[in-house]
Amino acid sequence: MFDVAKIRDDFPILARQVNGRPLVYLDNGASAQKPQVVIDAVTRAYADEYANVHRGLHTLSNIATEKYESVRGIIARFLNAPSEDQVILTSGTTEGINLVAYGWAMANMQAGDEIILSVMEHHANIVPWHFLRERMGVQIKWVDINADGSLDPQAVLDAITPKTRLIAVTQISNVLGTVVDVKSICAGARARGVPVLVDGSQGAVHMPVDLSDLGCDFYPITGHKLYGPSGSGAIWIAPERLAEMRPFMGGGDMIREVHKDSVIYNDAPMKFEAGTPGIVQTIGLGVALDYLMDIGMDKIAAHEADLCAYAKSRLQTLPWLHVQGDAPDRAAIFSFTMDGAAHAHDISTILDKKGVAVRAGTHCAGPLMDHLGVSASCRASFAMYNTRAEVDTLIDALEFAQDLFG
Ligand code: PLP
Repeated sequence: MFDVAKIRDDFPILARQVNGRPLVYLDNGASAQKPQVVIDAVTRAYADEYANVHRGLHTLSNIATEKYESVRGIIARFLNAPSEDQVILTSGTTEGINLVAYGWAMANMQAGDEIILSVMEHHANIVPWHFLRERMGVQIKWVDINADGSLDPQAVLDAITPKTRLIAVTQISNVLGTVVDVKSICAGARARGVPVLVDGSQGAVHMPVDLSDLGCDFYPITGHKLYGPSGSGAIWIAPERLAEMRPFMGGGDMIREVHKDSVIYNDAPMKFEAGTPGIVQTIGLGVALDYLMDIGMDKIAAHEADLCAYAKSRLQTLPWLHVQGDAPDRAAIFSFTMDGAAHAHDISTILDKKGVAVRAGTHCAGPLMDHLGVSASCRASFAMYNTRAEVDTLIDALEFAQDLFG
């Protein structure tokens, strides 16, 4: 059974007050809070078990290496990936996508080749492709979303031409909450021989992921949204694509031999992990994923579906509030503007006075904001520890803000 009260007890920060009110943390799309088991694991790793990994032959280095390396298998289990050998540990999604841009795309694309993106990508899945546009003359092709914020998989597939080398698309929009049918995109793209990168930053947090079934080529995740430490993450890369990749960053650990006039690289995945990694962050991520698997991602998804439906029904009752996007398949992420002159930053400041933490701004989604014709919005994004009572507090706080500004 999913016991939200018990889960809340696992997160010490949820017991605190902000501005004299109980904290209602609805900025989970930006970063999630950490359960005590993760905090304890990070403390223990520094207090009792810290050393560099892969290098020492002493006891502490062996413990740190064993714990750090065991996380690869945990991530593979969490994503149901075919093998942990295809899991590259990173500092987060941004590094993962840059690894694909520099390590795979630069080695396998040339001027005039095309990358297909949806307009609702996060900057992390846009800017690395702009680098390739600027430096190599690669073309970015944009696929629009429908009026309700959904993305038609067929529209993505219809954009494929003989010059298309990659489709890079998010699984869940960090602004609209839209859940994209990435499986259909992967199936159609595979039939046309086009690799697909699925940005799992939001998707892996809100739904069970089965990479053995999804059919994508690249799947990056970011640890801090998955209740783990910031500076942790991973990318799963299909074996065929790994074989086509060049190393991106050079340094220790990714090489087997270095001489004055030659180097011999390590095998994947270490070939793509240069330098001292985020040792403790990664160990913390492993504990966070074990924690999620113990609860069950299906149970988390069911709880969040209930929150999503409830929040949607309550937000719809506010005639002066405009929620962006209403895709039939959506996660509990709601971005909105309000009638009147109130700027998103002002609304968020007022909500904060009521203890409600939301994000305000452009959400690192410039092309989507252009498409929607708004300069900024507020975003309430829910996590497994949020409750219907917190939805009510959000609504009360919004009504207070409207009274103030309306
Ligand atoms: N992609 C999406 C959809 C996101 O929501 C985010 C973070 O908000 C990212 C990529 C980038 O993640 P990170 O900053 O952890 O690398």
